[in-house]
Amino acid sequence: MAVPKSKITRSKRGMRRAHQALVTGAHNECANCGELKRPHHVCSACGYYDSREVVEVEGV
Ligand SMILES: [Zn+2]
Repeated sequence: MAVPKSKITRSKRGMRRAHQALVTGAHNECANCGELKRPHHVCSACGYYDSREVVEVEGV
């Protein structure tokens, strides 16, 4: 429901924003090269997934 800005107290505004914190994304070490990578994603550094190369990395 729309409420005039002047009616929202600093306290209520703060309570609402208490749930807006940013969270860091999950990351694991690549089993092949040790680079940090996102879980369930192909490693962006070496192109490995599930202990085998699935995509070729450009510039190698
Ligand atoms: Zn890797």
